[in-house]
Amino acid sequence: MKMSLFEIYNDFANDKNISDLLRSHSIPLTKFESIDKEYLRILDSYLESREISRNDIMVLTSMPIQNVSILMSVANYIRETSKGNLISFSKNVFIPLTQLCRDQCSYCTFKYEPGEGPLLVTPDEVLKSAKKAVELGCTELLFVSGDKPEKKYEVYRDKLKSMGYSSTADYMISMSEICLEENIFPHSNLGIANQDELMRFRNSNPSMGLMLENISERLMDPGMAHYRCPDKYPKARIKTICSAGELNIPWTSGILIGIGENWDERVDSILELNRINNLYGHIQEIIIQNFNPKPGIKMEGQPAPTDLDMIKTVSISRLIMSKNVNIQVPPNLNSKTYMLHVFSGVNDLGGVSPITIDYVNPESPWPQIDLMKTTISEFGFNLRERLPVYPEYLSSEYIENHIYERAKKFIDNSGFVTES
Ligand code: SF4
Repeated sequence: MKMSLFEIYNDFANDKNISDLLRSHSIPLTKFESIDKEYLRILDSYLESREISRNDIMVLTSMPIQNVSILMSVANYIRETSKGNLISFSKNVFIPLTQLCRDQCSYCTFKYEPGEGPLLVTPDEVLKSAKKAVELGCTELLFVSGDKPEKKYEVYRDKLKSMGYSSTADYMISMSEICLEENIFPHSNLGIANQDELMRFRNSNPSMGLMLENISERLMDPGMAHYRCPDKYPKARIKTICSAGELNIPWTSGILIGIGENWDERVDSILELNRINNLYGHIQEIIIQNFNPKPGIKMEGQPAPTDLDMIKTVSISRLIMSKNVNIQVPPNLNSKTYMLHVFSGVNDLGGVSPITIDYVNPESPWPQIDLMKTTISEFGFNLRERLPVYPEYLSSEYIENHIYERAKKFIDNSGFVTES
């Protein structure tokens, strides 16, 4: 039975778990009658048609904290009706295959120069990590690298060549193939990739990822976060994501928030991801990743996005994206607020590693899986482990048959990892 906006909000506001949580974050549960009529009109019309215009989205971005609980209630309702009470995560090992990179993002702590650390993680080290991860019950091997360092550093190019590889992509593909044989599923985040490379990745990776980050070319101007970052050119990233769509590769993408973008650019980025997904249907998940200032980076002095910023971005993303798309916030970057984001539309908490740090945000430790499970169940949810590919994409349409056959040994009828 279809619920009215009033009923949805009433249910939300009367849930003790939710009201206690909002109160603990100083978010008011305003009386329905006191909420700005324009917001009520927009959300009512969205519930009627399940569509929302860009203009209306922009109005929602101006919502003050006094009204934000109504937006959360609608996003929470959409999450509940499409994903039920399941929250997923994956248990992974994070391998930073090379931390050299030709880009210079102002928020980066991942990249270093030759001489500041090893040129790459060697095949022996990769294999050792994969075996250790399997022993500890991990099912995902997350490969991350800097972007195209072979185009910038001769010493790295020579190293790859001496090992028999022509590029970072070539090396990552080879390591993916070896690790899959160990019964762990690679999920590669290479950066920009062409169709041929993606085709080769498809043979060992059941899913891959590339964040859109932001659609705005303005962020590449001098002084902005993506100045001197050729791989952050939005059209190139969109091309990679679309190429993956043409190949039916389940894809993880998302946006970075708080890197100097404005609300128009943030909303346009989410709309673009939805447009691409409407064309190809391969975006399994979008990540809403909040910028975290750290000492020593160029953006050290820039403030992190506020909780209100995050809540509005997550909720608006839930309204915009097709209901099958999963929405994630990284729990280590939102350790005190991830439940707030579940009640704003999030249904996934990403990869959590029992053995490796988050090399992209080394200052933010992963939550303990048991603790996360307890917290989530206290709020009435069921935390389930997934493979790097979501259950909706576990079919021969999206993944190679030999990977699908291997995956079947790990999952139950629901498509999530079999619980012991
Ligand atoms: S592309 Fe990634 S590794 Fe390279 S500078 Fe940017 S954030 Fe750092």
